[in-house]
Amino acid sequence: NAAAETLEFQSEAHQLFQLMIHSVYSDKDTFLRELVSNAADALDKLRLEALRDENLPADVSDLHIAVEIDPENRTLTVRDNGIGMSRADVIALIGTIAKSGTAELRKRLAEAADPAASQALIGRFGIGFYASFMVADQVTLLTRPAGSGEGTRWESAGDGTYTVETAENLPQGTSVVLQLKPEDADDGLFDYTSAPKIKQIVKKYSDFVAWPIRMAGGAEAETVNSMKALWARPAGDVTADEYNEFYQQTAHDWNTPLETIRLQAEGTFEYQALLFLPRQAPFDLFLRERKRGVQLYVQRVFIMDDCAALMPEYLRFVKGVVDAQDLPLNVSREILQQDRQVQLIRRRLVKKILSTVKTMMSADPDKYETFWNEFGRAVKEGLLDDVENRSAILGICSFASTNDPERPTSLSDYVARMKEGQEHIYYLTGESRRGVENSPHLEAFQAKGFEVLVLTDPIDEMWVDAVRVFDDKQFRSVARGEIAFDAGPGAEQEAEFSGLLTWLTTSLSEHVKEVRLSSRLTKSPACVVGDTGDITPTLEKMYRATGR
Ligand code: ADP
Ligand code: MG
Repeated sequence: NAAAETLEFQSEAHQLFQLMIHSVYSDKDTFLRELVSNAADALDKLRLEALRDENLPADVSDLHIAVEIDPENRTLTVRDNGIGMSRADVIALIGTIAKSGTAELRKRLAEAADPAASQALIGRFGIGFYASFMVADQVTLLTRPAGSGEGTRWESAGDGTYTVETAENLPQGTSVVLQLKPEDADDGLFDYTSAPKIKQIVKKYSDFVAWPIRMAGGAEAETVNSMKALWARPAGDVTADEYNEFYQQTAHDWNTPLETIRLQAEGTFEYQALLFLPRQAPFDLFLRERKRGVQLYVQRVFIMDDCAALMPEYLRFVKGVVDAQDLPLNVSREILQQDRQVQLIRRRLVKKILSTVKTMMSADPDKYETFWNEFGRAVKEGLLDDVENRSAILGICSFASTNDPERPTSLSDYVARMKEGQEHIYYLTGESRRGVENSPHLEAFQAKGFEVLVLTDPIDEMWVDAVRVFDDKQFRSVARGEIAFDAGPGAEQEAEFSGLLTWLTTSLSEHVKEVRLSSRLTKSPACVVGDTGDITPTLEKMYRATGR
């Protein structure tokens, strides 16, 4: 074939690939879930394109997924008549592994001690297609874009190279043909040529997939999955297992969710939401291009991933589905941002998520701790971005404190412990716990028995200045200004030290505004304090580091 070429996976990707397929997986069955989910995505995309372009020369009359087994030749095929791929797509999408996160994933995989951990990692890196190589010696992908174009055949034995060539007479859509590993390679545990076994896997992982998954059984092809949208079923009918499967497949996470949240609104503007808080933060939570995790459906039809209009950025880790009744199917991202109804949904989703975490704080402190460790830094961005919900967000925050170095505290617990005569919530920011705890600024507070919050996340510097109060108590930095309980030295001492103070002020005039006596220290001889309106030293360092 004149148009055939043999290409190598990027070298970085190749190493990753080896690592992945040679790890020990406790659950190889998931390869099928990945292939079915790709096929379902391809059908979603085609339906959407057909909705937007009436003249699309594609056949959308019988969109479905077919799973075929050939025990004699030991092959398993997953076929869809969806959107398909061009040759360029195949090279870009299938020939390139985990474009963005490869290096990071490789590092983390090398660190992951047990199979379950590496499995969880792989699921989070969008490399589902390659799971095929856990069970197959060779994978062949045949694809033709819906509507037009040439067919492409891609093939690889998972050994570092793949071939791409033009293929004639392919139907619309994609087939993935797995040449299954020899029987003795799987100890008989994983017989993927057994129809009942495959049916059982499909049912387990893909029951809610909105497209028929057909398997040849006798004369008629049989639809294996029930295709019921979980979020449209009465809450009492859905089992935890079903929620978990749904989450794992749609969120591409091999963990189960930390929390499942359902929300239903009836009346003039009807919608259903099924949201999940993940158990672990994604590696790219703080990377700039990080996407949001909520999908939009309109009347059960998938419309888009990453629906920014439905979730504020500080809750970008929340996953799930919102299904709205009354939006047009061809709604665009731009329109969504403006739509008043969508804004109302978003407000309700945010409030529901915040109240769910609030409940979790008292009902299940361990779960809350997991949540906060993973996502607290992102949530705190909301203190700056979401003024409307500021106090609700403050209510779910927790911070390290001098009260108990081992246990973070909520603000309401801090307030409950405030001493007689203590008016403010005191905090000290810094780069590390150790640095802050050894700071001379703390001495007077410790002597008085006043608790001080220890804030070491960069974002803390920003929100304390913006937020200012909690429960009518002001936030006060212990490194700034005159401390109210600092009675100050007597006149006698002032007189005694005035010569020294004048000399110090003059000699240090380039560095400090004033040198004064203070009773705030109990052990250290001197400390540097900022004026009340000054930025803190850490913030100053941050600005300097970023060149501002
Ligand atoms: P992910 O699904 O997380 O993007 P995969 O490795 O499963 O990662 O697939 C990579 C990409 O290849 C998909 O995003 C999609 O664009 C393309 N692809 C895979 N399978 C199909 C298919 N059956 N039809 C069309 N495109 C597909
Ligand atoms: Mg996939």
